[in-house]
Amino acid sequence: MEPNKQSDWVARSLRNVWHPCTQMQHHETVPLIPVSHGRGAWLYDHEGKRYLDAISSWWVNLFGHANPRINAALKEQLDLLEHAMLAGFTHEPVIRLSEQLAALTGDVLGHCFYASDGASAVEIALKMSFHSWRNRGHGDKQEFVCLKGSYHGETIGALAVTDVALFKDAYGPLLRASQTVMSPDARQAVDGETAQDVARRAAADVERLFQQRGDKIAAIIIEPLVQCATGMAMHDPLYLTLVRELCDRHQVHLILDEIAVGCGRTGTFFACEQAGIWPDFLCLSKGISGGYLPLSLVMTRDDIYQAFYSADVTRGFLHSHSYTGNPLACRAALATLQIFQDDHVLAHNRARAERLTQALAPLANHERVRHFRQRGMIWAFDAIRAPADFSRRFFATALEHELLMRPIGPTVYMMPPYILSDEEIDGLAASTLAVFNQVMAA
Ligand SMILES: *Cc1c(COP(=O)(O)O)cnc(C)c1O
Repeated sequence: MEPNKQSDWVARSLRNVWHPCTQMQHHETVPLIPVSHGRGAWLYDHEGKRYLDAISSWWVNLFGHANPRINAALKEQLDLLEHAMLAGFTHEPVIRLSEQLAALTGDVLGHCFYASDGASAVEIALKMSFHSWRNRGHGDKQEFVCLKGSYHGETIGALAVTDVALFKDAYGPLLRASQTVMSPDARQAVDGETAQDVARRAAADVERLFQQRGDKIAAIIIEPLVQCATGMAMHDPLYLTLVRELCDRHQVHLILDEIAVGCGRTGTFFACEQAGIWPDFLCLSKGISGGYLPLSLVMTRDDIYQAFYSADVTRGFLHSHSYTGNPLACRAALATLQIFQDDHVLAHNRARAERLTQALAPLANHERVRHFRQRGMIWAFDAIRAPADFSRRFFATALEHELLMRPIGPTVYMMPPYILSDEEIDGLAASTLAVFNQVMAA
């Protein structure tokens, strides 16, 4: 007989499942929650307890769990075509998705290359940048630049342009060196500086590096508007405008990693729209499939595409991945884009954001809170004099209040799905305050 008690699932998971981003020994004290099903913004365990998914299951879920419209699209697609290879073959879902995404960039980024996870999209953008320079006779442009505190994924290539010691240090000897420039994180403002002043200071750091060795640099990679994994570090859009100009002037590609901040998360469909610029490469993943299936892609310009277009096979971009453009994942993405259109999601999110920001006022003004910040559907604040183990304690205490939240160090953040009702918004704010007070009193 299959055991189906909560504790049995926990024991079996800990025996055979190696969980991500986890020191497994911590599960001797930190709870592991077996999820039996999800509905809307809620996840349910095997004992009927529920948890509001305030971080969209690691930032992927946009329209709730078991969304009826995405479910219907997937069920239809299942009976048509689950997968076919994308070399030599093509299919309707990948064609429609590429057309619709290209149209969202005004056809500036008209060529879409697919993979399954975010880190792979980053690797593809790095490879394409280097290879396109090489095809154009600039094979000595081999270096990449990233920001302090940047996070772009955890495969060897993506880790090389990631600057989070916790994830990177152990693998240092395996990684290719990259250049790191100042983050435009507005929290660094000193002596009456504005966020724009910090942006200018950070852009000047890029300019110095480009002047020194721009001829060796293939690309700079930036997570626009919010550096999420490092602790929701937010910056002024001016930074992106300035870096775009520097890239043009010094012949350096601009890669924007919109894996977390894309798909409406910062208030516009693409974060870079707020700076009025387009990159040379744009990476998307996470929310693009509505949080249903692994899907990522790199969008690029026609001049990059043309650098590979040739009778010579080796000048082509030969990167291959078995599940490239998987029809089920693309169909989930199409259903997701349809919801954006049908429900006027970006407009409704503005109202949701206003309500949650207001409801969070007691935290924004809390004496143990600083740098309360918000952009689009991302909220964050930093705990002052946080107790040891703040993040794990907060996670465990939040569960007792029916909340799924995982602070990053002393930074508490919310990235909820785009479906919260007024009641859920008010409940989220009230519970977060209660959890925060409880943890800070420890
Ligand atoms: C999550 C994330 C990645 C990596 O995506 P995976 O699918 O986890 O490989 C890369 N960049 C950013 C900004 C991310 O948030």
